[in-house]
Amino acid sequence: MPSTDPEWYAKGLRFSCTQCGNCCTGAPGIVAFSQEEGEAMAKRLEMSVGDFHRRFARKVNGAWSLTERKTSFGYDCVFLDRESNPGVAGCRLYEDRPKQCRTWPFWPENLESPQAWEEAKANTPCPGMGRGRLVPIESIRIQRNDPG
Ligand code: SF4
Repeated sequence: MPSTDPEWYAKGLRFSCTQCGNCCTGAPGIVAFSQEEGEAMAKRLEMSVGDFHRRFARKVNGAWSLTERKTSFGYDCVFLDRESNPGVAGCRLYEDRPKQCRTWPFWPENLESPQAWEEAKANTPCPGMGRGRLVPIESIRIQRNDPG
């Protein structure tokens, strides 16, 4: 049986974020961020990195993760904003959001094969996967290879 072309998505993949916020809530999870990303988020909030870590982060297995708030939707990311624009979930730190958030759904594990993409579509609550605008392979590559 032939193996999957590593860039089986050469014609692009459809994805349009609906700003439903589903990826920023749900069961308790991890929103990992690097040292540089922590510095950028702290700078945007005009606070020290130490204060940022104390107020908005926790360590999970030795790595930093943003904290969450229990809401009626689930465990919302601490920076998920449902108030500014009712009915739409936004990110208070959108311009400096971590790689994990910036690159969804073009994570390497979702791009491994057409089956992996379909499974992610079926098993995650993201209504934007497979719908809307066609994201060209050049953009997918950039997100897939984002070094963070
Ligand atoms: S779950 Fe998908 S559509 Fe909803 S906010 Fe996240 S990326 Fe956008």
